[in-house]
Amino acid sequence: MSKPRIAVLGLGIMGGGMATRLFSQGFPLSVYNRSRERAAKFEHAGAFVAASPREAAERADIVLSMVADDAASRSVWLGDEGALAGAAPGSLLLESSTLSVDWVRELASVATEKQCEFLDAPVTGTKPHAAAGELFFMVGGSTAGFERAREVLAVLGREVVHLGPNGSGALLKLINNFVCGVQAASFAEAMSLIRLSGLDRGKSISVLASSALASPLIKRMVTAMAADDFSPNFPLKLMTKDIGYAIKEGARCGLPLQTAAPALEIFKGAVGQGLGDEDFSAVVKSVGKN
Ligand code: NAP
Repeated sequence: MSKPRIAVLGLGIMGGGMATRLFSQGFPLSVYNRSRERAAKFEHAGAFVAASPREAAERADIVLSMVADDAASRSVWLGDEGALAGAAPGSLLLESSTLSVDWVRELASVATEKQCEFLDAPVTGTKPHAAAGELFFMVGGSTAGFERAREVLAVLGREVVHLGPNGSGALLKLINNFVCGVQAASFAEAMSLIRLSGLDRGKSISVLASSALASPLIKRMVTAMAADDFSPNFPLKLMTKDIGYAIKEGARCGLPLQTAAPALEIFKGAVGQGLGDEDFSAVVKSVGKN
């Protein structure tokens, strides 16, 4: 059977890796990116570069969006030039960006009105996992839609979990990222305390990195610090966005996320210091310098 035609909207760190992976596995590919420069390498490789999300969707059976935030997602899906205007009834629509649950549910209902199948399918994993097909998908939507998406998600991910109806994937992703954000913020405070107290930095980090607190996330931060390389795998401004969305979702459920709120302030402080486009681990450079 021939492979479904796929449109990828958003060719940033994650969307670019996912599109490359799909193309390398033989899926006919159309791509769209707001700024066209990012699409150039796909054009050279022979993929179709669309002038709008609508044009990309018109040439696809499956549309996958991987953009920054709710505003970006609205802009690629809605409006005269949006993907929903181009998607044929029966198309499968996948939204893999990390977004607010409210927006994802609104988008799901617009997609249903257009007789399309919609799944929220955000991911864990970062730049190398996107390029290598080793993401972890958390999926919300119908069982039929999930079954239909399996072939493509299996190419992009090492794990694909169906969590429940639309919004379930988006919600678990926000829960995941707010806990990551809290860990990162508290580790940034710890690094600052080590510096200000005069403890031996190298020895202290080495002890902490082999203790119970050394989650994969903290290990990534330690690696970035050791190499003094904060080039973005996961941009700091996007972690800031995710913590904010999680706090709003907590409030909607009647639960103030009391650890997330100060973590958000720490991340906002880092953005204010011009670190938003660096890796999230650059939060270690911001604390104690305000
Ligand atoms: P990124 O490299 O900053 O790319 C962002 C993408 O969104 C770019 O294609 C950008 O287009 C597009 N975009 C931004 N604002 C837009 C707008 N208003 N209208 C249309 N397009 C817009 O970010 P990323 O790391 O790939 O992240 C993409 C999504 O995946 C985010 O929701 C993020 O939270 C999530 N995520 C990221 C990671 C990670 O490790 N990086 C992991 C899991 C999930 P331009 O090129 O024109 O700016």
